[in-house]
Amino acid sequence: MSDVLTAEQRHRCMTRIRGKDTDPERQVRSMIHTMGFRYRLHVSGLPGKPDIVLPRLRKVVLVHGCFWHMHRCKFGRVQPATNANFWKVKREGNRRRDATVLRALQNAGWDVLTVWECELRDSDLLSDKIKRFLAKEKQK
Ligand SMILES: [Zn+2]
Repeated sequence: MSDVLTAEQRHRCMTRIRGKDTDPERQVRSMIHTMGFRYRLHVSGLPGKPDIVLPRLRKVVLVHGCFWHMHRCKFGRVQPATNANFWKVKREGNRRRDATVLRALQNAGWDVLTVWECELRDSDLLSDKIKRFLAKEKQK
């Protein structure tokens, strides 16, 4: 069992990556707040308990860590040298769940924007993208 993270290591890792108040999510929230939109957080009645929900606009913003959700960027393509299989299983499971959640939200009539952690490196660009998403009329 030497190739398995200790419970404590795993806990630390998970908290850092998927904590409810991860920094990327907080940054996105503050952008949306600055734009004058009001939102609800982690709405448990919706598929996947989405991070940021704008009920009146029927829009959802998901904030994904690149590593954890396997973004197609250099951070998402990192293959950990140790515990490779543990991470592979976890991350692929996440990606499958992301796809299922996305479909379920869209089928229920929600408009979904996924924001990747790496996009926060250019906050002007990301802010424009979020603004366009929130201002966009829903496709009928
Ligand atoms: Zn990324």
